[in-house]
Amino acid sequence: MTLSATAMPVVLVVDDEPDNFDVVEAMLSNQGYILHYAANGQIALDCLSSVQPDLILLDVMMPGIDGMEVCRQIKALPQWRGVPIIMVTALNAKQDLSRCLAAGADDFVSKPVNLLELVARTRSMLRIHQQYQQLATFNTQLEGLVQQRTAQLQALIDEDALTQLPSRSRLLQATSVALQTAQSKGSFGETSQASSRCTPYSVGLAYLDCDQFKLVNGAFGYAVGNELLQAIAQRLQLQLRPGDMLARLGEDEFCFLLHHLADLETLEAWVETVFESFVRPFRVVNCDFFVSVCMGVALADATTAQPETLLQAADTAMYRAKRQGQGSYQVFDALLSTATRDRLTLETDLQRALEHREFITYYQPIVQLATRQVVGFEALVRWQHPERQMVPPGNFIPCMEETGLVVKVGLVVLRQACEQLRVWHQQGATDWTVSVNLSVRQFDSPTLLADIDRVLAATEVNPAYLKLEITESALMQDAEAAIAVMNQLRSRQIQISLDDFGTGYSSLGYLHRFPIDTLKIDRSFVQQIHPGNRNHQVVNTIIALSNQLALPVVAEGIETVEQLQCLQALGCEFGQGYLFAKPLPASDIQVYPKSE
Ligand code: C2E
Ligand code: MG
Ligand code: MG
Repeated sequence: MTLSATAMPVVLVVDDEPDNFDVVEAMLSNQGYILHYAANGQIALDCLSSVQPDLILLDVMMPGIDGMEVCRQIKALPQWRGVPIIMVTALNAKQDLSRCLAAGADDFVSKPVNLLELVARTRSMLRIHQQYQQLATFNTQLEGLVQQRTAQLQALIDEDALTQLPSRSRLLQATSVALQTAQSKGSFGETSQASSRCTPYSVGLAYLDCDQFKLVNGAFGYAVGNELLQAIAQRLQLQLRPGDMLARLGEDEFCFLLHHLADLETLEAWVETVFESFVRPFRVVNCDFFVSVCMGVALADATTAQPETLLQAADTAMYRAKRQGQGSYQVFDALLSTATRDRLTLETDLQRALEHREFITYYQPIVQLATRQVVGFEALVRWQHPERQMVPPGNFIPCMEETGLVVKVGLVVLRQACEQLRVWHQQGATDWTVSVNLSVRQFDSPTLLADIDRVLAATEVNPAYLKLEITESALMQDAEAAIAVMNQLRSRQIQISLDDFGTGYSSLGYLHRFPIDTLKIDRSFVQQIHPGNRNHQVVNTIIALSNQLALPVVAEGIETVEQLQCLQALGCEFGQGYLFAKPLPASDIQVYPKSE
């Protein structure tokens, strides 16, 4: 029932008097309408579909169904509701007219019909109808367009544009469905703690994160990074088992939705194939890229209601895997989430500890092995926890390193150590040095030199008696930048020790490149040292090399006389360890008598 601009409007005239139709026909004859006649209400109702009127002129007073009722019935039909009805009536009372309106009529023409009035009202009603129809058509088109756009938007939300893989939201939807299906089939079985990860493993998520992907973007640009991600996505798709899903969660993160893993062995075999698929390099823009991934897997149990919870668990496991090192894999278990919670508590506790000045410094003597004379001390941080025993740094330094708090705490230690050094020097131990550990984060800190200058100025110690201990990893991240910082430190006469030597990159070849004053051999070599064994050979090589470079060597962790003798025989000059003294509070260290 559309009215095109060229089609002639169809007018249906309903009147029990054929003469009246003739009058109307005569009046509208030259208006370009097609007129149809219905002799009563019922005929009018019956002919609507065949006539397809654009306007109805409806007599009110008719035998049988009167005009009011016909009008009411037409307006009740959805497909004809929009067709305007002009009531043709001899009734002029306001009451009658308002009844017509109540019945749904759009306009009136009074009887006897006046030519001008009829032509004018018919024309204006048809025009309104035409506009109404155009609006309806426009609305339909608009609706179609909106639906189309919504579908496009949904596709965008559901699909990752770069790899065409399902997105996070679609993964979550699919996981939700999988969880519901598994619940309804009772696939999870018992819910007790012991069997919470029970077979069959109906639903699981395997969260993958590429190792060091930022380096690719940084070194080769985003275009290459994107191509590499596409190549990774393609290779991962080959690992899809029937019915499973692979989604891209963002950046370099992907996630598999796994169904029906028969047992843990099946899972592990699959994980193995995923890792194997990364052995071959990815060829992008004529370069071979070796990529490794870390993976965290979470398996749903009967208590897993939300897909987000499962994804969070997989993420936690993946984070754990990352901490183990590149190419690692972890399955989530409840202990992991406890560990995550503990970790968050630790972060806030450490912040509070800094504010409450709970970090204090202990000092472990460094001795000349031949004479056992103290030549200096290593400053080692301790956390004086209000409720627990003294907390050793191994329990909190890694966390502080990640949050960056180590920069502030390191400064506290540096300040305490320098103040203590000044006291010792004032007391007469003028040749003692103090060694302060610098973590990677501190070493990279842009404020390092300014912080050190401030402490030196405030404590007025001679910088030549301050040593900073740096590990190999701090140097290797950016060797040129490290050398620049070390030269800055040296220009202040501060000495530099290379700490834990042998545990990091252990390349003796690079040693000469760095301005180092002392080498500290890691405890792990000292503790297992026996004449002729591998550690013995390693320590021998390190000492021989440092002799060539004229670098004094300090052996860490000497606990026994045998170890001491071994090291002395190899020509090691200095050492520290429980054999001489454990790290002590400053109050336990006496300057006199000077030699014991
Ligand atoms: P490190 O710098 O290698 O310090 C030597 C560690 O070996 C100290 O552990 C010391 O107590 C321990 N040690 C010394 N002699 C022996 C021994 O004979 N046997 C055994 N078993 N251990 C011995 P501590 O104090 O627990 O510190 C551990 C690590 O924490 C340090 O290793 C250092 O890397 C870090 N650290 C300590 N204090 C600070 C600090 O103020 N700042 C930073 N950034 N790191 C610190
Ligand atoms: Mg150290
Ligand atoms: Mg060390």
